[in-house]
Amino acid sequence: MATALKPAAITTAERQAREQLAACYRIFAHLGWDELIYNHISLRVPGEDNAFLINPFTLMYEEVTASNLVKIDIDGNKLAESPYPVNRAGFVQHSLFHRLLPDVHCIIHTHTTAGMAIASIEEGFQATDFYSSMFAGQIAYHDFEGVTIHPEEGARLIADLGDKRIMILRNHGLLVMGKTLPEAFQTYFFLERACAIQIATRQAGTPLRVPDAVVAAHQRDVLTAAPEGMRGLAEFAAMTRLIDRKDKSWRD
Ligand SMILES: [Zn+2]
Repeated sequence: MATALKPAAITTAERQAREQLAACYRIFAHLGWDELIYNHISLRVPGEDNAFLINPFTLMYEEVTASNLVKIDIDGNKLAESPYPVNRAGFVQHSLFHRLLPDVHCIIHTHTTAGMAIASIEEGFQATDFYSSMFAGQIAYHDFEGVTIHPEEGARLIADLGDKRIMILRNHGLLVMGKTLPEAFQTYFFLERACAIQIATRQAGTPLRVPDAVVAAHQRDVLTAAPEGMRGLAEFAAMTRLIDRKDKSWRD
């Protein structure tokens, strides 16, 4: 028998996490990176051992607010009352990474056109330009095994990921993990841009080429661009101001 859940007693840390994640969903909607009512961005609730926030299933990203995000445990069970279901099949992959990788606090998964296109190309993602050079040697791949992961696929996902925190799910989409939400957002932003540029470049119909020295120099410079813990903060704040100018209802 299901136990009745109490209305959530929300800490300041949880409230801040809710606002940050709701803003992120609205930013993704603004950028056209949402997919009907599907896909996920999940965020660990600070200061709690086993609590995560995720989008209410059946709502579009543009309908997500700080208060309608659903608080769940690692198995996708609701921790607080919510009229919305959770797409547990979609969360199962996120939960695997949240469970096994303590440094992973935020996970973004999308089915964007550019991401899915790159995920379906034999050569995969290539370092061909300013943005994609940022990701040289940092991307893991996992072969397509179907819609939902089976228990034995979990071990293969973790093995394929290794020490990387960006994964291209072949024939499926992009997966980005971060120590913070702004860091994951920034990584995702440039990855998505790189995928879109790479598709456009391929449409030119000529072979792709980038000198190894350029990639190496870019990698070196990127690593010094922002101190640890600060990555993505200014970019995420700028995008939050932008969505605030459109519609502040995400703060509800
Ligand atoms: Zn997916």
